[in-house]
Amino acid sequence: MSNCIFCKIANHEIPGKILYEDNDCIAFLDLSQTTKGHTLVIPKAHAKSVLEIDQDNLAKSFKVAQNMANMLKTKLNANGVNIITNSGIIAGQTIEHFHLHVIPRFDENDTFEINFTDNSQICNLDEVFKIIKE
Ligand code: AMP
Ligand code: ZN
Repeated sequence: MSNCIFCKIANHEIPGKILYEDNDCIAFLDLSQTTKGHTLVIPKAHAKSVLEIDQDNLAKSFKVAQNMANMLKTKLNANGVNIITNSGIIAGQTIEHFHLHVIPRFDENDTFEINFTDNSQICNLDEVFKIIKE
């Protein structure tokens, strides 16, 4: 897509710190460096988000993300990794070209946090199950 910044990086029209490239995907350092080594994996073919991407390209992107995660973990001495993708503004998506964040994790002070809050007291499990299964 002509005005997409990630398409431009994939086409080498604008610079990026590209760590890996093959026919289908590239991996490059995220400008924000949420944690040291924070990397993005994208398919070269434009897709808006995880909800729209062709499943072959989704699988290829996840394979690259797994390889990048292992490589970053080794090179940077990380203790763990989060692989996440945001879809939609409410979910934090700011760039509408599908991307996987590969976020190396070092310790409890590495400033990245995901909270899986226990809301089971206000969100009834049986009711939710019924709605979804109907
Ligand atoms: P999201 O909020 O999930 O859409 O993630 C978009 C990510 O792209 C953010 O973490 C930004 O820091 C990152 N980003 C934006 N522009 C660039 C760029 N030109 N090169 C590398 N990372 C970028
Ligand atoms: Zn694009």
